[in-house]
Amino acid sequence: MKIEKIRLTHVRLPLVEPFKISNGVVSEKDGIIVQIHSDGLVGVGEASPMSGSFYSEETPESTWDFLRNSLAPTVLSRQPSSVKEINKLLNPIGGNFYARAGVETAFWDLQAQRRAVPLSQALGGTRDNIESGLAVGIYPTIKELLAAIERHLKEGYKRVKIKIQPGWDCEPLKEVRRAFGSTKLMVDANCAYTRSDMDHLKKLDEFDLVMIEQPLSKDDLEGHAQLQDASKTPICLDEGAKDVSTIERAIRLGSCRIVNIKIQRVGGLQNAIAMHDLCAHAGIPVWGGTMPELGIGSAQTVHLATLNNFCYPTDVESSSRWFVDDIVDPPIEVHDGTLTIPAGVGNCHQLNETKLKKYVVREETF
Ligand SMILES: [Mg+2]
Repeated sequence: MKIEKIRLTHVRLPLVEPFKISNGVVSEKDGIIVQIHSDGLVGVGEASPMSGSFYSEETPESTWDFLRNSLAPTVLSRQPSSVKEINKLLNPIGGNFYARAGVETAFWDLQAQRRAVPLSQALGGTRDNIESGLAVGIYPTIKELLAAIERHLKEGYKRVKIKIQPGWDCEPLKEVRRAFGSTKLMVDANCAYTRSDMDHLKKLDEFDLVMIEQPLSKDDLEGHAQLQDASKTPICLDEGAKDVSTIERAIRLGSCRIVNIKIQRVGGLQNAIAMHDLCAHAGIPVWGGTMPELGIGSAQTVHLATLNNFCYPTDVESSSRWFVDDIVDPPIEVHDGTLTIPAGVGNCHQLNETKLKKYVVREETF
């Protein structure tokens, strides 16, 4: 196998509506598409940090710089020939998870295409469809929150996730419960609370939530263990589930009963599978979260979530839920709350060149 060419395309797409979480707001989505040309095939990956630096230290700009100045030249000169070899090359590099995910997932796509199987099968998945859940951000008023949920629930999503923060938790939850009755419901705090909020967070038990995602700071595994001990509701780590050794520690401490695995946040699919396997062995169910990514990254999460221990609906939603337009054909579509992998090999979704050109910020070929 010879890697002949790597093409990086930084695109920026408008969101249908601004997305606000406890630590920031975005109204556009950046993604860097990585195309690796080898032996007549093109493997496609996506590096997809949020713009700004409120979710991760990495931004589209820092990810672009690292891909351009370091990863693309290194991959071309070292010529890794498999997913295993690219991971051997990438994993010793500290940080830069999103850039690494962009390159690593392109290798998986290449490998699946070479075997002429869908990515899900190359990853060890056992299904061709998964359940999808609706995630909504923080709105100026409860009325607007309820209207947003109602608008989107028509697509049949299998659960609702709302973002919370101090001052925006019990009241909106009470109203969502009142309006949507027995709908499966969960919350995500994106690290917005501290240990001094412990008594308040215990009150969330009364809403019969599927889980509370990342209530405390990402490094506070002990605090999460205390909260899990005091709460009936399962705690789920997201930002805090950084890598295999952190999850091992979290399991030992009892910090969570569920883990959210994001391909981008952990530097690619092989690391995601290692985390999945560790959790499966420990009896901890996982599910697939999103940034949210553009079509390529979203599709990869769907493929990954066909593995056995992905037990809850994914955050991947229809392309049209987030983006005025998406860069893949076919777009990601939820039908009756279900995402089905289209027929094909590799990612099973093709890049749309016209749309790449329309939304390009910068492009470079190596
Ligand atoms: Mg989260």
